[in-house]
Amino acid sequence: MAEFTFELNDDQKQVRDWLHGFAKDVIRPAASEWDEREETPWPIIQEAAKVGIYSLDFYAQQFFDPTGLGIPMTMEELFWGDAGIALSIVGTGLAAVGVLANGTEEQIGTWIPQMYGDPGDVKVAAFCSSEPDAGSDVAAMRTRAVYDQAKDEWVLNGTKTWATNGGIANVHVVVAVVDPELGSKGHASFIVPPGTPGLSQGQKFKKHGIRASHTAEVVLEDVRVPGSCLLGGKEKLDERLARAREKARAGGERVKNAAMATFEASRPAVGAMAVGTARAAYEVALDYARTRVQFGRPIIDNQGVAFQLADMRTQIDAARLLVWRASWMATAGKPFTSAEGSMSKLYASEVAKKVTAQAVQILGGNGFTREYPVERMHRDSAIYTIFEGTSEVQRLVIARTLSGMPIR
Ligand SMILES: Cc1cc2nc3c(=O)[nH]c(=O)nc-3n(C[C@H](O)[C@H](O)[C@H](O)COP(=O)(O)OP(=O)(O)OC[C@H]3O[C@@H](n4cnc5c(N)ncnc54)[C@H](O)[C@@H]3O)c2cc1C
Repeated sequence: MAEFTFELNDDQKQVRDWLHGFAKDVIRPAASEWDEREETPWPIIQEAAKVGIYSLDFYAQQFFDPTGLGIPMTMEELFWGDAGIALSIVGTGLAAVGVLANGTEEQIGTWIPQMYGDPGDVKVAAFCSSEPDAGSDVAAMRTRAVYDQAKDEWVLNGTKTWATNGGIANVHVVVAVVDPELGSKGHASFIVPPGTPGLSQGQKFKKHGIRASHTAEVVLEDVRVPGSCLLGGKEKLDERLARAREKARAGGERVKNAAMATFEASRPAVGAMAVGTARAAYEVALDYARTRVQFGRPIIDNQGVAFQLADMRTQIDAARLLVWRASWMATAGKPFTSAEGSMSKLYASEVAKKVTAQAVQILGGNGFTREYPVERMHRDSAIYTIFEGTSEVQRLVIARTLSGMPIR
């Protein structure tokens, strides 16, 4: 385990500068166009694949960076470029983390490469947990997976919603109920391989922000997948269910469910996305405040404006520190005894919403138009307090962890 330091090492600085160059030269100039088109920016994903930013190798390298800072640094730079395009580039990662968190080595080796495709033929993947009646309340999930022992196949039925890349993905990772008696402890994750009959895209959502990222319903009608598509395998699932039943009988310790394992690993990364968007808006506002002249002087000469910028930057740096701490803890294998992962996501997402709103205000009328990027950044930032657990859910997790009480 590398020692913790606030300074990126030389290799990390090189990667950061390379990512920043891509975000500045390729992502940012395309941001407005793909926001208006509300379509997946395939040419940009392909460009990212060509240079090595959209690849399993690159994310594995960042994921296994012993300092824990590889992923947050990557997220911050790409989302600094543009949140919608960046989510199209990193959205596959959520499904990949689902497989990494719950899959066997063979499943990881088989399915993750198919999630990315190759630079000549890029693919994306989707992680499907949320349902129309099961958003924050994951335990209300209804999508059912039933084992057909004779054929060694699982049969999936249900409707998923809000799936990033849902329906356009090559590989879908679907969380489903295998034992309804156990609530969220009776869930398991499945791979739905490319071209599996019965999986179709439902409604594609028209969104307020991150409009370059595809979000849709995924309908599962008698979707049959081989037994080998159960992440972690049948033996492990049976053991886990037996333990959960035992604990339910004894009324004891809670058992983590499949979707929660994925969310825990990805929350600081969402915090880092929020830091990227907040930093982007802050930089535009700072430049604008230095050059915009009213009453014969730059508007930054007024404390009313300068102090806002001071607060914005302070909060962005504080958010980054919380994200780095949580990412370092996750890599170092430290338990989140005070829900530090949730803290980082809660604070960074709230900061992004606040800072982008202040940036709109500092740009005045221009901030309110699509001629300037802060309007888009403000719309985009609203997602960070919603997905991967809303701010209210993060507060619940933090409060429950700190108090040990079943706060509702
Ligand atoms: C653009 C986008 C992309 C997404 N991508 C994915 C994806 O790839 N895969 C996936 O599975 N899901 C995805 N989601 C789903 C996302 O995780 C859910 O939207 C989120 O968990 C909230 O669920 P909900 O929308 O049903 O809101 P609800 O759970 O209905 O919440 C509505 C409001 O009630 C509040 N609330 C609910 N319960 C409580 C409580 N106990 N205490 C206090 N307040 C509460 C919430 O905080 C929120 O403010 C995505 C969502 C969006 C918008």
